[in-house]
Amino acid sequence: MKKYTAALDMGGTKIKFGIVDTDGNVICDAEIPSATDDENADAKVERMVRMLKEQCGTNGIDFDGLRGIAVASAGPVDVEVGTIINPYSLPGWLNYNIIKALHTRTGLTVKLDNDANGALLGEVFLSGTADKKVLMVTIGTGIGAAFWDGTKLHRSGRYHPEMGHVIVSSEGPECYCHHRGCFESLCSGTAMNARAKENGYGDFDNLYAAAEKDARARALLDRIGREFCAGIFDLAIIFKPDIIMLSGGMMRRYFDFFGGLVVKDMEGLEDFVDTLTVQHTSDNKNTALLCANMMFEN
Ligand SMILES: [Zn+2]
Repeated sequence: MKKYTAALDMGGTKIKFGIVDTDGNVICDAEIPSATDDENADAKVERMVRMLKEQCGTNGIDFDGLRGIAVASAGPVDVEVGTIINPYSLPGWLNYNIIKALHTRTGLTVKLDNDANGALLGEVFLSGTADKKVLMVTIGTGIGAAFWDGTKLHRSGRYHPEMGHVIVSSEGPECYCHHRGCFESLCSGTAMNARAKENGYGDFDNLYAAAEKDARARALLDRIGREFCAGIFDLAIIFKPDIIMLSGGMMRRYFDFFGGLVVKDMEGLEDFVDTLTVQHTSDNKNTALLCANMMFEN
């Protein structure tokens, strides 16, 4: 029988929330701004609970019969205590206990995870790969990685493992992880654009286009490609995934390039990595809400 779960996707700009079902439908959703300048966190939670109850009423869903409320938030979050600890993009929610706040107002079970795990769980649910080992690497402003081991999420203590900071080169700018040559500082979208610009190519798009006929651009692109492969390889030899999902706008635009390099890099390395598939994440914009189905199944 179809079951319903409430879900919150807390981002730096807005909080999207709604009701999802176990068939993968988002029954209804709404958004409110996440900034707490005019309305504090408690008032926002109360408004969201009221709206979720209205959404249930409109759609003939018993609010008290929901499986629970799943929260995916821009991290870091403390998944055990229930607090959001993100002074960068959610300053108004710093140390706010979202699990307690929602539970005391609804009586429902509340589960919290960071957005990287939320996105991975949503993708695993959508692709029906819960029985596979799935490594998701998101290339954006930074590099985020998350791993589903075929039965559960990989965790290291209360905080998310910082897999985007594995070292891929002995050179590079010093990162806020206090090391030079880490994956994020060399291969995030921000870093790849910066490296292109420093070398006179404007941004990564221009560098990529120039590499067709400019040997200097080709050399820089090759170097970025090698470092990118090193980062993915580091994670792959540790986790031995069946599927690597590359996520983020740049990975979508250049999937053939980066995905192709990774496949080639892993060829013939059966002693180190199992046979794996490299793919892009889905087009679905609701993975952070649909992760609710996985959070309440496991
Ligand atoms: Zn770093």
